[in-house]
Amino acid sequence: MGDIIVALATPPLKSALAVVRSSGEGVFRLAGQLFSKKVETVQERTSFVGYWSNEKGERIDQVVVICYPATHSLTGEDAVEIFCHGSPLIATRIINSYLAMGARYATNGEFTSRAFLHGKLDLVEAEAVNDLIEAASDEAQKLAMMSLEGKSSALLKPIRGRLAALLASVEVGFDFPEYEEETALSLEKAKNEAASLKSEIDSLIAEGQEGRVVKDGLKVALVGRPNVGKSTILNVILGEDKAIVSPIPGTTRDVVEGEARYNGLIFRFLDTAGLRENPEAIEKIGIEKSLISVDKADAVVLVLDEDRPLDAEEKAIEKRSKGKIFLVVVNKEDLRSGKHESRAKRIYLSAARQEKAPLLDALAKEAGVSAGAFARPSLNSSRQLSLLEKASRSLGEALENASEDRLDIFSSAVLGAYTAVRKLLGEEATLDLSDEIFSRFCVGK
Ligand code: GDP
Repeated sequence: MGDIIVALATPPLKSALAVVRSSGEGVFRLAGQLFSKKVETVQERTSFVGYWSNEKGERIDQVVVICYPATHSLTGEDAVEIFCHGSPLIATRIINSYLAMGARYATNGEFTSRAFLHGKLDLVEAEAVNDLIEAASDEAQKLAMMSLEGKSSALLKPIRGRLAALLASVEVGFDFPEYEEETALSLEKAKNEAASLKSEIDSLIAEGQEGRVVKDGLKVALVGRPNVGKSTILNVILGEDKAIVSPIPGTTRDVVEGEARYNGLIFRFLDTAGLRENPEAIEKIGIEKSLISVDKADAVVLVLDEDRPLDAEEKAIEKRSKGKIFLVVVNKEDLRSGKHESRAKRIYLSAARQEKAPLLDALAKEAGVSAGAFARPSLNSSRQLSLLEKASRSLGEALENASEDRLDIFSSAVLGAYTAVRKLLGEEATLDLSDEIFSRFCVGK
């Protein structure tokens, strides 16, 4: 068990109740010295009503205390939660009483990280705790809940098992040639298995990328020359929904000008106000600033107010958007009486006529989020996706080296994939292959 940590679990505002959470070795003994009820020897999850005092014995508040022995706690160690009246002053005094008794402030996420260290949650489930708190739509909340219930990790566990078996089959061929016929897969079978695993991991990546869009929304940069109608388009899209999202200290979230929800997706429009503030940019696109928002965005919408070819600066923006969704909107359709020639990937609309569906439909279509993505567990954090990509690359490397004379490369590439999958689940980085792998094969029978 770790040292005793303490933190306020609710926002530091006046409210009906506040919750102070604490965990660590000896926390019942510590609480017993500050609380009016005997809690030192609690064996089962138990709640008490009593008085909390500071280290000098001065009463702070009447509180409800829940004691969770290690076997029944989130953190996997003895834990105490104190429900006090919702005054930041009272909560602070309770925390100070802990500090005076030798506890320390918890660091960010430390309760959840202890839960992970004590095997109460795997890493994917631990990440889901944060996703659940951050969820900005019903759909994102559902995805996080599925991960917290272990449904996302469950996608990976059979793959981990099959990678272990594949590794074992190759290792058995090396180390115990006499068992080869009995237990080892033929090279052909090993190759097929590696290919099948790679395609399963690639599907998880595709589903994870869709899940990421559902969860985090799509960051959109609206760029274009001044006066083409960017602000008007933004206002039409945000409409009543306009929600200014301010940056949360300590997070790296981009400053967002507004969010719109459309068919279950969240569109986050990046703050490009700088384009309008710079007087020197009147006749220019404000290329530098545009490029910065382009780099942060998942989707770039270049706005024109006439149906013309892109100029050099606009082409530079298109180039910089490589690998992202890139759409050209031709605004002010109401001013054009004649018919236009429809070009690929151009969306024609009139913000003045309040038209937003053509753009939002196109963004949703380009984001490629299928209906299933809203209801399916997925491995969708950037950490998870980068490890899945690593596993897929390693299996690609294994497939390129699937020949008798390069079995060692094949095997180390499969090991690379296996390690990435284990890291994703937060399992130990040091692997004891014998346990997990050879136990399946009864080599010593
Ligand atoms: P920005 O500089 O790109 O943000 O452009 P604004 O949104 O400020 O719009 C510039 C001018 O174009 C304003 O006078 C708007 O009223 C006008 N405008 C925007 N959209 C349309 C449209 O669809 N049709 C017409 N006729 N005018 C528009």
